[in-house]
Amino acid sequence: MRILITGAAGFLGSHLTDRFLADGYHVIGMDNLITGSLDNIAHLEDEPRFEFVRHDVTQFIDVKGDLDGVLHFASPASPVDYLELPIQTLKVGSLGTHNALGLSLAKGARFLLASTSEVYGDPLVHPQPETYWGNVNPIGPRGVYDEAKRFAEAMTSAYHRFHGVDTRIVRIFNTYGPRMRPGDGRVVSNFIVQALLGQGLTVYGDGSQSRSFCYVSDEVEGIFRLFHANGHDPVNIGNPDEYTIGELAERIQAVLDPDAGVKYLPLPTDDPKVRKPDITRARTILGWEPLVSLQDGLSDTIAYFRSLHERNPLSPPPVITEAAEE
Ligand code: UDP
Repeated sequence: MRILITGAAGFLGSHLTDRFLADGYHVIGMDNLITGSLDNIAHLEDEPRFEFVRHDVTQFIDVKGDLDGVLHFASPASPVDYLELPIQTLKVGSLGTHNALGLSLAKGARFLLASTSEVYGDPLVHPQPETYWGNVNPIGPRGVYDEAKRFAEAMTSAYHRFHGVDTRIVRIFNTYGPRMRPGDGRVVSNFIVQALLGQGLTVYGDGSQSRSFCYVSDEVEGIFRLFHANGHDPVNIGNPDEYTIGELAERIQAVLDPDAGVKYLPLPTDDPKVRKPDITRARTILGWEPLVSLQDGLSDTIAYFRSLHERNPLSPPPVITEAAEE
């Protein structure tokens, strides 16, 4: 079996590549490296079943030979990145998805779209089941990611209905773990890096907004199972254990530096107030549920960032300064 993973040098793409290689697959990893890093796939240099192609998937994708699967994971995914790369984010979700679907159609390959909990926007239904249509501001700063992914889901569904492509859609909720970039800008890496540097943890708003954090090994297992399961409807893959951002800060402080203070910054525009997946569908269809607790996942992730810091002192991570206009 031979598959293409776009975004293979990214955080999730590289872990997914490892998972498929472990199962005997041949993997072509594609990435333009705007947010991905070759460090994430450096350990595969001598792996004969892995091939890396540097390519921007918003341009026509040419792959020689047969393909059994295309997994479209290329996209900036941190709010810091997609606020800085709005046009690229829109293009990779729209043109990139179109190209990846066209390739699937041409090769007769199964297609899996990496979608997101951001399709639910700032949700008015809590927790979020797949049947909820969402509450997204199309013209807000986050709209570039949310609407690109919503378009990508629409395009994927149209290729299934109109062309009969064998599609899957995973809605990925907040995921963390080793290989996140120290400068990623998302909350788990920001808080850990800030605590390692002895700096105040930057809490946006009053920290009462919630998220539900899934450890990367659980996320990847869910996606791997979804790829092999039947059905074309979207499936939430995430951990339903919900925490406020204030609680997350306290947990990371308790492990790393109880004296690390908190620095309050304005809540960014359209930052969702709550988020928690309803994973009934994943439990039923995939027999999947997350196994790693926040405590264990954080301890592995902290160990990872600590080792990076010991090798090469980390810089303070980026924060979002653009806030909602009153
Ligand atoms: N957040 C924060 N401080 C940071 C980074 C993020 O308080 O330095 C908050 C952010 O406002 C959001 C939550 O943490 O409510 C998760 O943000 P993240 O960027 O990780 O991902 P999101 O779920 O918003 O896509």
